[in-house]
Amino acid sequence: MASSTLHIFFLPLITPGHLLPLVDMAKLFAQRGVKAFLVTTPGNAARIYDSLERGGNAGDGVQVLQIEFPSSVAGMPDGSDTFGALRNPEVTEGFFAALNALRRPFEQLVKEHAPDCLISDAFFPWTLDVAAEFGIPRIVFQASGGFTLNALGALIHACPHRGVSDDEEAFVLPGLPDRIEMTRAQIPEFILSMPDYLKDMGVSQVKSYGVVMNTFRELEPAYCTKIGGLKTWFVGPVGLCNVDAADKAVRGEKAGDNIQCCLSWLDAQAPASVLYLCFGSLCRFTRPQLHEMALGLEAAGHPFLWVLRDDDDTGADVLPAGFEERTNGRGFVLRGWAPQLLILGHPAVGGFVTHCGWNSILEAVTSGVPMVAWPLFAEQFINEKLVVRVLRVGVAVGAVTCSTKEEERVLVSREKVERAVAQVMGGGEVAEAMRRRARELAAMAKKAVEVGGSSHSGLGDLIQELVNFKKP
Ligand code: UDP
Repeated sequence: MASSTLHIFFLPLITPGHLLPLVDMAKLFAQRGVKAFLVTTPGNAARIYDSLERGGNAGDGVQVLQIEFPSSVAGMPDGSDTFGALRNPEVTEGFFAALNALRRPFEQLVKEHAPDCLISDAFFPWTLDVAAEFGIPRIVFQASGGFTLNALGALIHACPHRGVSDDEEAFVLPGLPDRIEMTRAQIPEFILSMPDYLKDMGVSQVKSYGVVMNTFRELEPAYCTKIGGLKTWFVGPVGLCNVDAADKAVRGEKAGDNIQCCLSWLDAQAPASVLYLCFGSLCRFTRPQLHEMALGLEAAGHPFLWVLRDDDDTGADVLPAGFEERTNGRGFVLRGWAPQLLILGHPAVGGFVTHCGWNSILEAVTSGVPMVAWPLFAEQFINEKLVVRVLRVGVAVGAVTCSTKEEERVLVSREKVERAVAQVMGGGEVAEAMRRRARELAAMAKKAVEVGGSSHSGLGDLIQELVNFKKP
């Protein structure tokens, strides 16, 4: 039986960090002849339309099926159907209830289209029951990497944070191949509170057919293990399916207004001279923190491209007075969405200040760009350890508090910003070694997705497994 007879439903969580990799993954399946259906809400469908249109021209395409998102159940403004519309990037019970309410319309679509498999974001535990009802496998898409899932597992099962006397005392994550220290202040809020939705996700995952992940074996070999004892396929970095500049330019939201100007500015910069700063799709900073960041950047003296979410309620400029004038020519502030794959792949970019979202890390790795790790909330502090301690392709800026609420985080001083930027962008053996490792990892990433590479084979194995499952 051929892959062309396979029909697969993909159901992403409605936030760019989960949606974009699953769109890329659906495209990869489609390129192998699978009929891929991406199920999402109207606002998210609009966000990925251009990306899929291009995929459609190049290959078999991915069909989008839409279901309405009940914003009011989530306590979000009417018509908003992305996680980013929440004031704090914190999964509330209301938001989770709204995700649960997607079950009925989703089930209806499964009835109509009779797919052979559901590839579902872990945030939809009920897709396990839907898959069982229709006698098809449910495969869980985990949007994090292997190191992160292993570290979270160590925290959940061994609770090493319970043995320390205060939030600043370090403890070691037990059972990991590397010695990783953390403090209680750095661990994700959801580990401390263990909300019901997280338990539901865990229970449904262990009963699933398997797990598929956007990572590659060579990046974190000791951590690409069976997740929860289940069959696990590693098929990343899926972002590498965006090959042309045009593919990269349309990935995600519509780019900020001054994007053309920004790209021309980048073209005029020396190779590897520019520091790129972008904090994903959900992060917010207090105004004092933005000031420290700006003044640290100014003092560091390197050219920079800073992506700023200028959604301050007052509409006032959030940067220190005169900052943009003083750094004019040397710095570029891009307000709004940045075509990150295009920017990270630009030869002028030599460093990346990141919040340590999993996709951003993988995209930096794929582009061979070393990082300044500035984690803020959720599992980002764990990802920081991977970048700094395990892969050794970045330095920590020195953030100490994990919180979705920006006013709860301890301020990172301008001096810390300046120091971390100098370590990544400056000369010297340590910086050189970091750049060399980043280039090596980028080469490994590209190899992994080529014919015969580990992720290319991983995807082939998964498709074959599903073809075999389908056989009567
Ligand atoms: N992204 C982008 N432009 C932006 C902000 C984010 O292209 O201005 C993309 C980024 O390339 C990544 C995703 O959005 O693929 C964000 O995912 P990540 O896991 O890094 O962080 P999250 O937004 O989930 O915190």
